[in-house]
Amino acid sequence: MGGWIVPPPRAPTKTESAHAEERRRKVRELVERGLLTSARIKAALLKVRREDFIPREYRDYAYEEVPLPLPGAAATISCPHSYPLFYEPLGLDRGQRFLEIGTGSGYGAAVAREVVGDEGLVVSIELDPLTQDFARRNLERAGYRDVVLVLGDGWLGHAAAAPYDRIAVTAACDEIPPPLIAQLRPGGRAIAPLLGEDGRQMLTLLTKQADGATRREALCEVLYVALRRREDAAPSPRAASPPPPHRAGSH
Ligand code: SAH
Repeated sequence: MGGWIVPPPRAPTKTESAHAEERRRKVRELVERGLLTSARIKAALLKVRREDFIPREYRDYAYEEVPLPLPGAAATISCPHSYPLFYEPLGLDRGQRFLEIGTGSGYGAAVAREVVGDEGLVVSIELDPLTQDFARRNLERAGYRDVVLVLGDGWLGHAAAAPYDRIAVTAACDEIPPPLIAQLRPGGRAIAPLLGEDGRQMLTLLTKQADGATRREALCEVLYVALRRREDAAPSPRAASPPPPHRAGSH
């Protein structure tokens, strides 16, 4: 997967206060660039220690605008500005039920949990068991114990906790998966990087109207790892389920 440059892995050198200062500076910059306006999203970005969601060898780069590799076959933690890029147009807010596809590091789920608060709900689906393990450990260490982590194919969504007020797909797909649209509450919004015929990805906001009709709005060009499908078209994803011992045709 090309398209961005991964900085060289190295032993971490930065102190906790250096990270805290970089976090404050990053939030200031996002506000100045006009990417961050919601007070709740701002407070969440100030609170969640992004460095704790990053593999040790990339920890020093926590607040740089690069996606960083994570454990698993094809996972990255997205660059810092991508979280307000998704959550601002979504209008993520207190009390909402939020579904994320692609748990990755768990950072996006932690930020979302801060935004929706105790009255809301965060469900996050990850396809890769190694990546999910990493996310689970990060979230637990950071004290986020009520984020619902689902191992499975996010294309299918997670009907058990539907309907959702907001859905974010953090991997590139051809179209917003129809099961996700079905699990979105009328009046709800979903956001996803959609692959165009030219190979470019367009961050797209979908609004589901009260009558169920959908409207799409192209926002900006982005670059995400591809949404993969589980070859065995798994039945319903279950929370925290281990990977199946044998998968026909897998290697
Ligand atoms: N939101 C993440 C970044 C996600 S990177 C964060 O905050 O760190 C994209 C993730 O989507 C990867 O972890 C990848 O393994 C996962 N993924 C790819 N296809 C998937 C699918 N069909 N269902 C669920 N997760 C998927």
